[in-house]
Amino acid sequence: MSAEDKSLDLKEIVRRITETVSEYGSGHGLAACWRAPLAAIASARAPEFGRLKEAVSPTHLLPEDVLRGAESVISFFIPFEDRIVNSNTAPGPASEVWALSYIQTNALISQISADLEELLRSFGAESGKIPATHNFDENRLISDWSHRHIAWIASLGSFGMNNMLITKAGCCGRFGSLVTSYAFSPEEYALPASAPERCLHKLRRPGGRSCGLCHRRCPAGAYNDGRFDRHRCYARCLENSRLHRHLGYADVCGKCLVGLPCSTRDPSAHLSPSRAL
Ligand code: SF4
Ligand code: SF4
Repeated sequence: MSAEDKSLDLKEIVRRITETVSEYGSGHGLAACWRAPLAAIASARAPEFGRLKEAVSPTHLLPEDVLRGAESVISFFIPFEDRIVNSNTAPGPASEVWALSYIQTNALISQISADLEELLRSFGAESGKIPATHNFDENRLISDWSHRHIAWIASLGSFGMNNMLITKAGCCGRFGSLVTSYAFSPEEYALPASAPERCLHKLRRPGGRSCGLCHRRCPAGAYNDGRFDRHRCYARCLENSRLHRHLGYADVCGKCLVGLPCSTRDPSAHLSPSRAL
């Protein structure tokens, strides 16, 4: 396939990502780590990118800051297999399997980005890649390119009470994104930030049942009176990174992501048409 005889579309992007996940999994003995990836494309001109300067940080980058001539932003989600998720449900430190899968999935995301870059180059387009993680300010603990917020703009999911994006495949997994100069056909772009609300707590009727299970699971008390204390959370993640340092660097915890109605599926899918509890 080349630029002369075919144009790129979302289907081809998903196909390439799926192929990379499969090849990488078999090549590294990790075939049982990940479920089918999700992907979506946002226009680099979506006004929601500008809103991230308010919602995340004044220094949050725009697509144009990542790549001059940016036209599109490809966002993808690699959901973890149940085995990885279930390994981390016991109270206490992050499981070794959870910590290792974080490191392995970061490496996978680099490979996906490299493969997408190659695909886009074959269509004459440039790419701006962003590391899967550790692209944040160490003092403020705020990222200047939040893959989760990019996925929100690309309509891959809605934010849950645990600050994670709940996708069709739940919230346990890793997000990545890539900026490109490739201009897709208009129908390939997601309507920005249009994913349906999926968090059960946010969907509850006044006086109805709530959820909030994720907050109760936090061993660090990082969710306090509706406010998220990112420093408490990160202190816990650093404890885990010290515990698992023999694996590499895994500053993770994830107790507020596992064993929940939203961990590996859309928890709102079984609700009545009114989508309320
Ligand atoms: S556990 Fe419940 S409240 Fe927390 S994000 Fe999931 S659905 Fe929302
Ligand atoms: S990752 Fe761990 S420490 Fe951080 S909020 Fe979730 S449960 Fe709490």
